[in-house]
Amino acid sequence: HNVQVPIDIKVDGIFNLACPASPVHYQRNPVETIKTSVLGAINLLELAKKYNCRVFQASTSEVYGDPSTSPQSEDYWGNVNPIGIRSCYDEGKRAAETLFMDYFRNFGVDIRIARIFNTYGPKMAQNDGRVVSNFIVQALKGENITIYGDGNQTRSLCYVDDLISGFIKFYEQTKVRGPMNLGNPDPLTMNELAQEVIDLCSSKSVVVYEKLPLDDPLRREPDISLATKYLNWSPAIGRREGLQRTIEYFKKVLALQ
Ligand code: UDP
Repeated sequence: HNVQVPIDIKVDGIFNLACPASPVHYQRNPVETIKTSVLGAINLLELAKKYNCRVFQASTSEVYGDPSTSPQSEDYWGNVNPIGIRSCYDEGKRAAETLFMDYFRNFGVDIRIARIFNTYGPKMAQNDGRVVSNFIVQALKGENITIYGDGNQTRSLCYVDDLISGFIKFYEQTKVRGPMNLGNPDPLTMNELAQEVIDLCSSKSVVVYEKLPLDDPLRREPDISLATKYLNWSPAIGRREGLQRTIEYFKKVLALQ
């Protein structure tokens, strides 16, 4: 189903993960991207209201934009460009959070808002365009590793299984509705990531530097105190282990081609 279009099916609960999350994909059709977040939120909140069920929103660390404080905690309002190339995603997700809060305040809809920080793992698409899959595929193929900008920007990478366990714990508990950060509070620079991937792949790839995309955030690091306090959750899979599992996955995918 296209979440931009209203839907009426009897449901017990809703996880709204609709919307591409990779910058190259969400920027390809920006109007569709913001419609997916805004109209999708309205349609699924209406559905939750009608069937009186819980609805979970996959929001994003992008609501913090290019943050002026680090780590980012949920009470930080963000530093977002409303008219840039990332805005279709950032502002769409921000408006969706607004809608979730207003449906909660006005209609008592049972909401959960999770702010997801950079996540990776097996089953990512080879052409996803985000940094982990790009670097791994490039390293395994012996191609140049493309670092955008000077490579000193930081990200904190969460392995997918950890994220999903956080989703489920958050959805199932009844104490807090969010917004709640979910991510791995272990930042590293893109230069460091490139080196780690090259080492783990025993690759001969070399690093090349390309233009930094507009509005690319300089740093991103989740403060996960809320998740730790209310969900007793924190990531269990370290980056080395997570990267190794992801590398094994892409080795198999590339071997089949
Ligand atoms: N990046 C990079 N090379 C790539 C893809 C991404 O250096 O091939 C950088 C990108 O500019 C950003 C960081 O890696 O600073 C994370 O990018 P990604 O697209 O994975 O997610 P974002 O956090 O920007 O949404």
